[in-house]
Amino acid sequence: MKSWDNITKIAFSVNEGKSSAVDLVKESLKRINEASEYDAIISLTKDRALERAKMIDDGVSQGQNMGRLAGVPFIAKDNFLTFGGETTAASNILKGFNAPYQASAIEKLEAEGAIVVAKANLDAFAHGASTENSDFMITKNPHDKTRVPGGSSGGSAASVVLGLAPFSIGTDTGGSIRQPAAFSGCVGLKPTYGLVSRSGVVAMASSTDCIGPMTKTVGEASLILDIMSGRDPLDSTTIEKDTLGYIGADSDLKGKKIGLVKEYFDDSLNSEIKDSIDELIVKLKSAGAEIKDVSLPILPSALAVYYILCPAEVSSNLSRYDGQRFGYSYEGAKDLNESYAESRARGFGREAKRRIIIGTYVLSSGYYDAYYKKAQLVRTKIVNDFNDAFRSVDFLLGPVAPTQAFKIGEKSNDPLAMYLSDVMTVAPNLAGISSITIPIDMKNNLPVAVQLMAAQKHDRSLLGAARKVEELA
Ligand code: GLN
Repeated sequence: MKSWDNITKIAFSVNEGKSSAVDLVKESLKRINEASEYDAIISLTKDRALERAKMIDDGVSQGQNMGRLAGVPFIAKDNFLTFGGETTAASNILKGFNAPYQASAIEKLEAEGAIVVAKANLDAFAHGASTENSDFMITKNPHDKTRVPGGSSGGSAASVVLGLAPFSIGTDTGGSIRQPAAFSGCVGLKPTYGLVSRSGVVAMASSTDCIGPMTKTVGEASLILDIMSGRDPLDSTTIEKDTLGYIGADSDLKGKKIGLVKEYFDDSLNSEIKDSIDELIVKLKSAGAEIKDVSLPILPSALAVYYILCPAEVSSNLSRYDGQRFGYSYEGAKDLNESYAESRARGFGREAKRRIIIGTYVLSSGYYDAYYKKAQLVRTKIVNDFNDAFRSVDFLLGPVAPTQAFKIGEKSNDPLAMYLSDVMTVAPNLAGISSITIPIDMKNNLPVAVQLMAAQKHDRSLLGAARKVEELA
């Protein structure tokens, strides 16, 4: 696993004319090729990447500053619409789909000189927690090929840890950035809901979908968030970024209150993860933080709420894949109805169908009040519980998942067991707050990580505190 220089250093060197963007792109493509056994990558955007790299090198040679990410290669989860190749969301139903426009997040990164070189594997439509639910390949954990990298942004996480590119981007609807970051061993940030535009990202559950960076360091995640965040006319749910931006936030924890979420430290938590967190707590105290026990009694209901609301939104969002406009279309249909039915029956995998059926059921007239409406009411209680907690502490700390990376095949035939691995990540999505995964230890040759959470729009202070956690770990 070869590493890259810090992203800012790479861009500086390109702008100085000391490194060439073309060489950087070639290096990234070479590493992707060498690591093919990990199946982290679905496709390359090679030709366009090399063209853009040349354009950047030419700009530099004409004396222009090509941006804060000049010549920096990166990898996008394959649910971001990008030029230069197909966007499939790892689903057969989108095979052959070439996006007519790019995701706003990609556009913003490109405007600063970054270059997308490849599209990373994911659970199809981001449904999953292991990347085993891709229609194309199973990504391997960078530390142990018999284990999963986490999911759904497993390809993005593995890419960063394997050093295929200096950073990647992912999406997090119920944990899909934070959990693979924890399983694979990189930093993964789910910002406040609305801070990064969802325009041009294949929609999963629109009320919790978030976009964020996956990086080696917290500082680099701050830079990428600084570039991707802010209001976007193409996504009406976006919010203004912090007036101070996200770089160089105060990392001093003296006098800061950190709450340990009691509900996250129950018997289901693997004892090795607990031990690593206990060691971190000692260090946080010596750095001057005040550690408090905090209880969010509603938290045990979050998973049930998520697995009602998420499929409800999925069933609506996936209705657009009807074989007429995007990707796969069944050729043998005798009429339009059969084309709809057969294209969906053949194009969607089992998990997408499961969610469409559950979602349609909880939204149907006879069951709407009992399931969907009730879940929305409990969601409000979750939001209120977090708001209450953040009145008494600055940050909340907990594990990311109950276990370290599990074995390939261990849960893939048991949807409920797979859903249970999201038990610690879904609540921040339902509440729209910011949360970041920071690796803190290695146990049994596998990464251990924590998630640090802050109230909505407190992403800047969260990133500052996360830098300290990273330094102490
Ligand atoms: N594992 C969760 C699910 O399958 C979260 C996925 C995600 O965040 N995209 O719904």
